[in-house]
Amino acid sequence: MNYHSKSPAELRDIRDDLRVKYRELQAAGLKLDITRGKPSPEQLDLSNGLLHLPGDEFRGPSGIDCRNYGGVSGLPELSEVFAPLFGIDPANLIAAGNSSLDLMNDLTVFGLLHGPVGAEKPWSSGPVKFLCPVPGYDRHFGVTESYGIEMIPVPMRPDGPDVDVCTELVARDPSIKGMWLVPTYSNPTGVTVSDEVARGLVSMAAADDFRIYWDNAYAVHTLVDEPPQPLRILELAAEAGHPDRVYALGSTSKITFAGAGVAFLGASKANLDWFVKYLSLKTIGPDKINQLRHLQFFPDTESVRAHMARHREILAPKFQLVLDILDDRLASSKIASWTRPEGGYFISVDVLDGTAARTVALAKDAGIALTAAGATFPYGRDPNDENIRIAPSYPGTDELTVAMDGFATCALLAATEVLLSEES
Ligand code: PMP
Repeated sequence: MNYHSKSPAELRDIRDDLRVKYRELQAAGLKLDITRGKPSPEQLDLSNGLLHLPGDEFRGPSGIDCRNYGGVSGLPELSEVFAPLFGIDPANLIAAGNSSLDLMNDLTVFGLLHGPVGAEKPWSSGPVKFLCPVPGYDRHFGVTESYGIEMIPVPMRPDGPDVDVCTELVARDPSIKGMWLVPTYSNPTGVTVSDEVARGLVSMAAADDFRIYWDNAYAVHTLVDEPPQPLRILELAAEAGHPDRVYALGSTSKITFAGAGVAFLGASKANLDWFVKYLSLKTIGPDKINQLRHLQFFPDTESVRAHMARHREILAPKFQLVLDILDDRLASSKIASWTRPEGGYFISVDVLDGTAARTVALAKDAGIALTAAGATFPYGRDPNDENIRIAPSYPGTDELTVAMDGFATCALLAATEVLLSEES
């Protein structure tokens, strides 16, 4: 039942049926939330072993006393465990605090106030712009917006951001100083950047102080047997003659405990020296006890992969459930399309143009909280009002089923309203 080929009378009947369904939904008194990509309690339980660590141990393998100040670059042994997962040489990876977003914020502030390596002046001495692949991660956009950095949307394609558009923009405008990018199982599209796109981005002729924030938040969060190999992005950048172009980021937030994990920064030696210089002014060192705990929990790289396989067992059925409901309730109407991600935390749904905000509002009135329409775009402005990010991880399957079925009803109802208004 393709809505686009329905007569107005047929559409009115469909809408009236949907209104009945919607009223039933409202009457059910739901209180469901599929807004944020949070691990479920069951996933967090996988890491409960951490709660008993580090036990009586307080020394790192090299003898460092983790109870004391110091070691601002973190435990090198932890970098060794995680470096292969990020495709980075351990010598170029530092283990930091509990949040990669915090590192991204610091990188931005240090760039604004001090200027990155190679910059003649701090970024803030002139206009600063960032390229933002869309749809993208709202908290990235929040950081840049809060500092008055102008955000320029660039289209996300199935293999990463549109390199031609990026190349043209950076060549024309030296005030473009940065670019947000989630290279693996992107938030929210699930796209993984191809080798070719990565090479294009590190090769572009851009300002010397242009930086790509290679936010590999979902580097190991696969839902399939054969995940993509991590691109050796720092080496690609060096080969392209721009060794300092990339800040690679990641964390264990969705591996162990969200908010109580360990974040990592991978970069050239020059960039790391620069970052650590300013970092040491704001902290005497990271929480090495937490790092030690993580090192005991993950003695080697393979143990992280094995742990992620257990996350996958919990997550994959939830993703499948969401896709089954979308297929079942929305496919035939042709009013929406959605991603079928092979990893990460999100399914990105494009509803009928002009109905995302209405769909989210209808869902809210029925007790189903969805990520705000527009959130996946800079300034919250989705030019087509079509994108909605679905986060299947947190709710149990019963709740998820009800929430997604309700979501489908709202998307269909909003679509009939718009299609009928176009008729009149
Ligand atoms: N980057 C991306 C792309 C994310 O989706 C998230 C979490 N939703 C983060 C960073 C936040 O990571 P952290 O907890 O390490 O700050």
